[in-house]
Amino acid sequence: MSYAKKSLGQNFLIDKNIIRKIINLVKLEKKNIIEIGAGHGALTDEILKKKPNLLNIIEKDVSLYKKLKLKYSNIKNVRVYNDDILDFDLESLIKKNSIIIGNLPYNISSQILVKILRFKKWPPNFENLIFMFQKELGEKILGICPSVNYGRLSILSSYRLKFLSKFLVSKNCFYPKPKVTSMVILFKPEIKKLYKIENILNLEKITNFFFSNKRKMVNKTIKKILNEREIKSISGLRLNSRPSEIMPETYYKITELFEKK
Ligand code: SAH
Repeated sequence: MSYAKKSLGQNFLIDKNIIRKIINLVKLEKKNIIEIGAGHGALTDEILKKKPNLLNIIEKDVSLYKKLKLKYSNIKNVRVYNDDILDFDLESLIKKNSIIIGNLPYNISSQILVKILRFKKWPPNFENLIFMFQKELGEKILGICPSVNYGRLSILSSYRLKFLSKFLVSKNCFYPKPKVTSMVILFKPEIKKLYKIENILNLEKITNFFFSNKRKMVNKTIKKILNEREIKSISGLRLNSRPSEIMPETYYKITELFEKK
């Protein structure tokens, strides 16, 4: 491996056991796979051994893109796109029976996750999401109420994703070695039947609003967006709590009421 671009979060997986462990999390046979940031193809090679129906790769680095294109030029069900995942129309690309997978560039991994959480159609066409994050970010995504890791990202993620399993990956499994431990998380889309948020951006808006006043009791904040009657209709809400002590379900409910105004 001749080079790695730090700006593109390039830490390539070199540990075969970890690669296999990721690939074996779900059945890939006959599935439509989307791989984000394939690098030199460490995961890609193993994905192809599982005989997927189709494999779409999105790789931003033009030299890696060319390398991947050449490497898989003989395999007809592989498509390689040279694009930035954050600009790419991912939602239209994803067909039924899809699985999204990626050892993500860490500088933009929360943005990638949020992009997927914002899909217009939900349940989406994908069945599973397998992402490698920095451990700290993984913990924030999975943070439960109340805990230090609980916050905007965990509330948003738990609205649309069900956590299935996770494992840690040591820095020694990469070249170049990253500074921190990583975490692989497997999710599937979640449908929260009890809540009807029209637009997921409103849940983001609400949680941003509350968590930007992290130390304030919700008492003050909530009065700025809901009237007394609406506030009373939220069961189990204690007004002297701080934002991090309020359950995700309560934020869903607040968002619903906010949308109805
Ligand atoms: N999957 C490979 C590479 C992981 S490193 C492996 O496990 O070895 C992250 C990869 O994402 C790199 O190949 C990097 O070039 C690519 N990447 C970085 N930013 C990207 C972006 N915005 N869109 C698509 N790919 C990106």
